[in-house]
Amino acid sequence: MEIIENVYIHIPFCDSKCPYCDFYSITTQDNSIKNKYVSKLLEEIEQYCDIISPNIRSVYIGGGTPNSLDALSLENLLTGLLNQIHLAEGYEFTVEVNPGSVTEEKLKLFKEFGINRLSVGSQTFLKKELKTLGRTHSPQDIFRTFNTARKLGFNNINLDLIFSIPGQTINSLIYTLNKLAELDPEHISAYMLTYYEGTEFYRRSVKKDLIKIVDDIEVEYYDFVKEFLGSKGFEHYELSNFSKKNKMSNHNLNTWNFGAYIGLGTSAHSFYLDSRWFNDNNVKNYIDLKFNKYPNRSTLSLTDKKNEYIMLGLRKTSGISLENYNNFFGNTIDFDFRKKIGKYLENNYLILDESRLYLNPEKINIYNSIVSDILLD
Ligand code: SF4
Repeated sequence: MEIIENVYIHIPFCDSKCPYCDFYSITTQDNSIKNKYVSKLLEEIEQYCDIISPNIRSVYIGGGTPNSLDALSLENLLTGLLNQIHLAEGYEFTVEVNPGSVTEEKLKLFKEFGINRLSVGSQTFLKKELKTLGRTHSPQDIFRTFNTARKLGFNNINLDLIFSIPGQTINSLIYTLNKLAELDPEHISAYMLTYYEGTEFYRRSVKKDLIKIVDDIEVEYYDFVKEFLGSKGFEHYELSNFSKKNKMSNHNLNTWNFGAYIGLGTSAHSFYLDSRWFNDNNVKNYIDLKFNKYPNRSTLSLTDKKNEYIMLGLRKTSGISLENYNNFFGNTIDFDFRKKIGKYLENNYLILDESRLYLNPEKINIYNSIVSDILLD
């Protein structure tokens, strides 16, 4: 039977809230809440020991801001976690860090516990754009964090980039891309700024208090980012992700390949066999309530599974392996989706060769509209 080899842990604490962010996090300096939260995380993982593999291939600690936990809580979390799981050979263990607040002491701690990948929330190298995004770090903080991590031996670092920031010009984007390339990370996640409902940026954009970059320019910026990173030796392997050779994010690839994973902590989602479940967005409830295994569980129908397989798989530039689809569902993608994908194959938006179905790289910027049109009813 399939078992879970990939673990996500959500740390829902930030020093301040960025106005564009829709991840669940709260701003508190109260270490007792954070300590209690860590204890509950360790209780939560324990109750899933029957479905978690004895050999874990990837762990991802994200947030929020994981380094907003004090050193003692981080040590408790990592000790408790590694007492309960065993990392498989060749594992990937990522922690997200905020360049404005992570200290050398905490980076050392991560290294000592076997964390071998860092994801740095850099976003842009221009002070003015960082301010627009409500980020509290400076461009120098990114250099400091990156160089300290390198000095400590981290040889797999992701830098996050946000583009289409209000006021951004092609020249300011080029400036940031050049700085990114100068640091020479192994991986870059490049996201177009999104105005998620419920965020401060969304409200301000509705009130026209924030001037969004227009759609055509956003596409130009996206194309420019792809071209620039390609010229610097990064492979574009997923809509928003670029990596040096053999440095793709295994944790995320597992999700796009429809693999099982468990999410621990507030707002974390899990997927296993036919089920998805998720924890609510509430630190207080998470700390106070007795655990209910598989909260908010839903069962996926066969059609749901096929649709999710397509949605996730087409995010990758390599697309979907026809053989894997066939092995998973017992019939061919062509049989299941021909009526839906026919017109996109004819106009060359989608490509079906002898082994894969994938998006024409030139049409990747309209992924959303193509995918929403080809899902089964
Ligand atoms: S630091 Fe990260 S998780 Fe926290 S509010 Fe900002 S973008 Fe969101």
